[in-house]
Amino acid sequence: MRLHWHRTDLRPSDNLALVSPDADSILPVYVFDPRILDHAAPPRVAFVLDSLAALREWYRTRESDLIILRGEAPTELARLAEATDADAVSWAQAYSGLGRRRDDRVRDRLADAGIETHTVHDHLLHEPGSITTNDGDPYAVYSYFWKKWRDREKASSVAAPGADRLADAPEETAIPTLADLGFDDPEATIPAGGYMEARHCLNDFCGDDIYRYEDARDAPATDATSRLSPHLTHGTVGIRTVHDRVVRAREEAPDDAAREAVETFRGELAWREFYHHVLYFNPEVVTENYRGYEHDIEWRDDPEALQAWKEGKTGYPIVDAGMRQLRREAYMHNRVRMIVASFLTKDLLLDWREGYDWFRRKLVDHNPANDNGGWQWAASTGTDSQPYFRIFNPMTQGERHDPDADYIREYVPELGGVDADVIHGWHELSDAERRDAAPDYPAPIVDHGERREAALTMFERARGEA
Ligand code: FAD
Repeated sequence: MRLHWHRTDLRPSDNLALVSPDADSILPVYVFDPRILDHAAPPRVAFVLDSLAALREWYRTRESDLIILRGEAPTELARLAEATDADAVSWAQAYSGLGRRRDDRVRDRLADAGIETHTVHDHLLHEPGSITTNDGDPYAVYSYFWKKWRDREKASSVAAPGADRLADAPEETAIPTLADLGFDDPEATIPAGGYMEARHCLNDFCGDDIYRYEDARDAPATDATSRLSPHLTHGTVGIRTVHDRVVRAREEAPDDAAREAVETFRGELAWREFYHHVLYFNPEVVTENYRGYEHDIEWRDDPEALQAWKEGKTGYPIVDAGMRQLRREAYMHNRVRMIVASFLTKDLLLDWREGYDWFRRKLVDHNPANDNGGWQWAASTGTDSQPYFRIFNPMTQGERHDPDADYIREYVPELGGVDADVIHGWHELSDAERRDAAPDYPAPIVDHGERREAALTMFERARGEA
């Protein structure tokens, strides 16, 4: 009998370890490990609890059960393996430094007890090291990675294991509450977790929205993206299932434009894999710049500006709408993530690590690969990031991507009755005009033109040019 340790694979089907033929029977287990919980936050834990309940139900209807343990993973897994006479423990490969260090400790502890371990690559279509330059090095530029990723054959999804492969559980265990784990309730409304929700989300998106993805994905008011990110982060859906469904949508596309839109979406799945490879080969990027400059970047220290950014009170409407969407939904639209990240680093001149840390605490879909990739891209410190001299203008970004200001008004009620042209010209109004239009909404906390110059100087100094 083999234990299967679920982590970011909270699903029964398209789960490679569950169908791998090396064991007669499998007993599933999930461990709340305090060392990992130290890096967690309420939105993600709430989503995980929901997803565990769905997964446990799936096992229970098949006369098995999901064992829930609390404690350090090496000790807990060794104890359960010994108590159940399991001769092996399996899990899906982790890609972050933190996850890999934990897995090494588990492997050592189990080896001491004479228990085998099996690891499968399950979270990505192509594992790190399988898509490389012709010299065998990992890619540092996405476009080259994409060309190889796009054309490489992909594995198809696999079915859920039959009930006959699932072992009886020795004891019934309870799923803890957020409070049991020492977390407050999240301030945001968290999307429902679980493998069934993931399936609905995928099918909804691939039925229609995927065909307008190319045109609508940058318009936050249309909400036309898949919203699969929490499911892909926590593994309530398998990446092979997503890819198979997307390929089917491409086959069923009504015209070339729709087919193109599907390819653009596949490109986003490739970004996810690219950033996972980057993290795997450079685990230090969670705290260090991927790309060094000659000198340290002299980020400002400005707690008040940081607080205004977190609260969505910068006086830049599109930035504030995004930051409030984050607090309300534990999610933010991709275009707006890019805008708020650029604003933090290039207008407020604050270290990207401050923003990364806030996103880590607030996003339901936070994973270190994508989050770090996104932040370092915006801060001009990442793999093929924005060049330091390309600085988003938050007003023109708002005007271009939310022309009617519907997204802004949805999340910034102080601007509820204000015309779009007034909102997009907020930085040009006098104090009296602003008071007249929306007395409760702040004036811009910085001048974008001045800060743009200051950002260029900051980066030129780091490059040794100023
Ligand atoms: P869709 O547009 O429907 O994309 C489908 C899937 O592709 C996503 O679910 C995601 O898995 C992947 N994807 C899409 N865009 C990207 C991208 N730019 N980089 C990597 N993968 C991508 N994504 C996360 O999953 N977790 C994060 O913590 C995260 N933090 C980010 C921080 C910043 C500063 C930025 C700029 C981007 C971040 N992203 C992150 C990427 C992207 O914003 C989200 O994946 C996307 O908004 C999720 O919404 P969706 O599922 O509707 O995306």
